[in-house]
Amino acid sequence: IDLWSHSSLQGYAPICLGLEDFYIRRLYLRIQDCFNRPISSPPDAWFDVVERVSKDNNKTLQRTKNVSRCLNLGSYNYLGFAAADEYCTPRVIESLKRFSPSTCSSRVDGGTTTLHTELEERVASFVGKPAAVVFGMGYVTNSAILPVLIGKGGLIISDSLNHNSIVNGARGSGATVRVFQHNTPSHLEKVLREQIADGQPRTHRPWKKIIIVVEGIYSMEGELCKLPEIVAVCKKYKAYVYLDEAHSIGAVGKTGRGVCELLGVDTAEVDVMMGTFTKSFGSCGGYIAGSKELIQYLKYTCPAHLYATSVSPPAAQQIISSIKVILGEDGSSRGAQKLAGIRENSNFFRSELQKMGFEVLGDNDSPVMPIMLYNPSKIPAFSRECLKRNVAVVTVAFPATPLLLARARICISAAHTRKDLIKALEVISSVGDLVGVKYFPAEPNKQ
Ligand code: PMP
Repeated sequence: IDLWSHSSLQGYAPICLGLEDFYIRRLYLRIQDCFNRPISSPPDAWFDVVERVSKDNNKTLQRTKNVSRCLNLGSYNYLGFAAADEYCTPRVIESLKRFSPSTCSSRVDGGTTTLHTELEERVASFVGKPAAVVFGMGYVTNSAILPVLIGKGGLIISDSLNHNSIVNGARGSGATVRVFQHNTPSHLEKVLREQIADGQPRTHRPWKKIIIVVEGIYSMEGELCKLPEIVAVCKKYKAYVYLDEAHSIGAVGKTGRGVCELLGVDTAEVDVMMGTFTKSFGSCGGYIAGSKELIQYLKYTCPAHLYATSVSPPAAQQIISSIKVILGEDGSSRGAQKLAGIRENSNFFRSELQKMGFEVLGDNDSPVMPIMLYNPSKIPAFSRECLKRNVAVVTVAFPATPLLLARARICISAAHTRKDLIKALEVISSVGDLVGVKYFPAEPNKQ
């Protein structure tokens, strides 16, 4: 069954609702990935190829031979740095001329430039830790670091909705892995008590080390981590806290310093702070920040530091420059405006969607906004109808979400203007009516 095309959708919807889980699973086996692209279509046809992006967060998509300009509600360009910037771009070009696109060397074999050392100092001071180490990819930061931090005889307790890079890192570590109910500190405590042999956590424990892994903002839920409560449980049971701030660093908090700043958690309480540069900073790569000893240990032992080519210099320069803008060190107030912009845009968009009758997940201030579609058969119709109206949204489903919890995942940016957002709301509202995904009554004046 080709779920990608409209015609087959009509046949699929009743089947999906009416069949046993077993059959639904069988149908799903025919689907390649979490974007519900069927195996039968060639990989090149899965994607709308982006031809260019523009400063106003529109992107030009190429689909077969049609080219259309769309409002981009799908990328993690939270602060609008993933487009030409008056402060960052000239410096990035300069760094390209000075260092070339790649160091073509690992960090320990001549691949550490002055930009890399400056970047690590800036990241550490920005996130509020004594030291940091950076990697060329955010995904690899999780999947390569967890196995260095913990191994056989250790215990990882991971939030049930943690990102795939964490899941793979945890699996690859050789440690025992347990999962706690998503963002539920009481269940984390229950799992911890079960895992500590005699229920006397402070006197005897069978594990060499226990690491609790959580995310600052959950990428498919838009939810903020209940960090204060989780940190309290970890302290009680002497477990380490590993926090992935991919979606929260630069995006939330008064000065963009993430969930610790937003929720009033002292960064000293979080042992390992991980984040990526691919969202708020408009670049690529990831970081780990922590104590000097931890970072030194990682630099001596982590294969991804020792054997992988270092972060591309222009990418490093982009991160340094965007942090400077966020902190106002470029001499302007653009950073503060961007932070205020993403907060206002996110809160406006979320509340307008809710007033229209959509079920929207996530917390206030979070730029990640999943609109629940539930029925997987509604996914292609929703995204295609939005795209027809020049609004690009990302839809996600199994296995990235539970089977019957398909959703459209909107990402809001400081670069969206109010006019953009109002247009997007009109489009999403009419597509919501068409596809039938408004699950609550709308507020009277909003229809
Ligand atoms: N952690 C989380 C929570 C993520 O959502 C992602 C990807 N969006 C990553 C890590 C991997 O980061 P990157 O895309 O920068 O490789």
